[in-house]
Amino acid sequence: MSTLSVHSRQNNLERMSSEKFDLLVIGGGITGAGVARDAASRGLRVALVEEKDFAWGTSSRSSKLVHGGIRYLEQYEFGLVFEALSERQRLFEMAPHLVHPLKFAIPLYESGRVKPALLKLGMMAYDFLSLYDAPELHQSYSPSELLHEYPQLQSDGLLGGFTYYDAYMDDDRLVHETLRSAAHHGAVVSNFVRAESPIEDQGQIVGVFCKDMISNNSFSLSARHIVSCVGPWTDLLGEQMIPQWKPIMRPSKGVHLVFERGRLNLGEAVVMAAEKRIVFAIPRHEMTIIGTTDTDFSKDPGQVATEKEDVDYLLGVAQKYFPGANLTKSDIISSYSGVRPLVHDGSTTESGTSREHVILHHPKGVTFVAGGKYTTYRHMAEEAVLGVLDQWGPEEQIRYKDSKTLRPLNAKCSPVLWERASTEASRMSDEGFRLLNRKDLSRLADRHGMEFLDLLEKYAPSNSEGRTSDEILWEIELRHAMEETMCLRMEDFFFRRVPLFLARKDHGQSMNEPLSKVMAEVLGWSEKERLDQVNALQKQISSELSWRD
Ligand SMILES: Cc1cc2nc3c(=O)[nH]c(=O)nc-3n(C[C@H](O)[C@H](O)[C@H](O)COP(=O)(O)OP(=O)(O)OC[C@H]3O[C@@H](n4cnc5c(N)ncnc54)[C@H](O)[C@@H]3O)c2cc1C
Repeated sequence: MSTLSVHSRQNNLERMSSEKFDLLVIGGGITGAGVARDAASRGLRVALVEEKDFAWGTSSRSSKLVHGGIRYLEQYEFGLVFEALSERQRLFEMAPHLVHPLKFAIPLYESGRVKPALLKLGMMAYDFLSLYDAPELHQSYSPSELLHEYPQLQSDGLLGGFTYYDAYMDDDRLVHETLRSAAHHGAVVSNFVRAESPIEDQGQIVGVFCKDMISNNSFSLSARHIVSCVGPWTDLLGEQMIPQWKPIMRPSKGVHLVFERGRLNLGEAVVMAAEKRIVFAIPRHEMTIIGTTDTDFSKDPGQVATEKEDVDYLLGVAQKYFPGANLTKSDIISSYSGVRPLVHDGSTTESGTSREHVILHHPKGVTFVAGGKYTTYRHMAEEAVLGVLDQWGPEEQIRYKDSKTLRPLNAKCSPVLWERASTEASRMSDEGFRLLNRKDLSRLADRHGMEFLDLLEKYAPSNSEGRTSDEILWEIELRHAMEETMCLRMEDFFFRRVPLFLARKDHGQSMNEPLSKVMAEVLGWSEKERLDQVNALQKQISSELSWRD
C-alpha cells in the first residue's frame, strides 16, 4: 500500500507523533511538496503537514503556466526569467505528463501600451535567456498572418505580432506527483493536519503542536528544524512561531474564468498585452482559461472569492480581443481565485511587486520560504534545504549533499515512457480494448504515462455492464486518487484531482451518485456521511460561483 493512501493516513499520524524528524515542512502546496521531496531524496527524515487538502491553497489556483515570464522583462527581472526558463526545460524532462509545450501569440495594436520595436527586443532577450533551448524560437507575424491563425481576433488597429513558446501544466497534479515522490523517498506526509504553535527548548523551536483536523486530536511533532511553506499564510504562521514577527508579505488576488474549448477555440495561447497588466487566453485540455487579475488582498487567504467586478473586467478584455467569439457571461463554465504569496519589496503597485522568492532562516530554527513561482519551485526548494544544511555544518552538508530532484517525478512517466504510453493505448484500442473508448483510454495514458496500465489493473471495475466509458474513467481516477494522493473528500476529487468542476458545464454533478458510492465503499462512510459529502461538494461549487447570484 502507498504511504499516501487514505488507508496510510492514520499510520502516518502515529509516526509523526512518535518519531523524531530532521525537518518538519508546514504546508502542502508546491513549495512544501518541493522542499519535502528535495530533503527526503537527500536522506533526511522529513514530515509534512497540510491543514486542508494538498494543493488547496494557491497551488491549485494559478494560471497553470510553466513560464519564464515574458512580462518580467518589462521590470528588468532578467535573473528571474533566466532561472524560470532553465527550470521550464527541466520540468519538461521531470514531468512530461503534466507540463506541455504551448505556443503563445502576442497581437499588437495601434492603441497598445507595448511598442513593436521594444517587444522585438524582449522576444530576442527571451530566446537568449532560454539559451535558445525552447520548443521553437520567437517569430514575427503580419496582421493577415495572425488573423489567418486566430480568425476570432480583433482586426481593428492590428499591427501584427509575435509568437514564442512556454508551457501549460496541471498545477494541482504537479503537487500530488511531487508529494508522491517525496513519500517514495521516505517523507511522512499527511493532509488535514494544522501546525498550531511551537514547542520550545532552551530558546530553540524543537517541534510543533499539531491538530488532526479530522479527529480533532492534538499531538506534538518533534523536528530538528521547521520549514514554513505556507505561501500567503506566511505572516499568520510567522506570528504564531516567532515573537515580534515583522510582516513580510504583500498578498495579491488573481482570478480566472473558464470557457468551454469549443466556445473560444484557440489553437494556441494569446497574450492580451494592451491592458494595464497582461491577461492570457490559455487553451488547455478541454477548456480555455482567461486570466488573471492582480489586486492587493489583505483578508484571510482562505476567504478569497471571485467577485462580479473581476468577472466583468476579464470578460470585457476577452470580448475586446475576440469580438468574433461573441462571448457572454453565460459562456463562463467556472471560475477560480487565488492569492499570490508575494513578498513586500516596496513597489507602488501589485503587478510591480517582484515574483522573486525569499528564504529567511530564523535563528530559533525555522526557515520561511515565501514568494516565487510554480515554475521555479524545484530550484527554490533546493536553495531552502541547502540553506538549512549550511546552518548544521560541514559534516551534514557532505552527508546530505546529493538530492535526486532532477529525476522524473514519476518513474513511469519519463519522456520516453510517456510517449510509449500513448502508443500502447492506441495499440490496445486497435486490438479491441472495450472497457474505455479510444478517447478515454488515450486520456488515461496521457495523464499517467505507463502507470495507466497499473491503474487499469488495480482499479478497473470487474463489472462494467450498462456503464459508460466516461463513468468508468472517473471511477478509475477516483480509486487511484484515494490510493495514491490521500484524497479524502468528494470536493477534493472534483476540484483538485480531475477537472470535473473546472471543465464540465454541470461541474461533474451527474457523477455525484456513483462516485460518492465508490468513496463510501472505500472509506466506510455511512449513508448520512455520503450524503453530507455530496452536499458539501454542491455547497463548494455554489460558493465558487456565487458571483452569478
Ligand atoms: C492567480 C495566480 C496565478 C498564478 N500563475 C502562475 C503561473 O502560471 N505560473 C507560475 O509559475 N506561478 C504562478 N502563480 C504563483 C504560484 O501559484 C505560487 O507561487 C505557488 O502556488 C505558491 O505555492 P505555495 O506552496 O508557496 O503556497 P500554497 O499553495 O498557498 O500552499 C500553502 C499551504 O499551506 C497550508 N497552510 C497554511 N497554514 C498552515 C498551517 N498552520 N498548518 C499546515 N498547513 C498550513 C495551506 O492550506 C496551503 O495549502 C500564480 C499565482 C496566482 C495567485
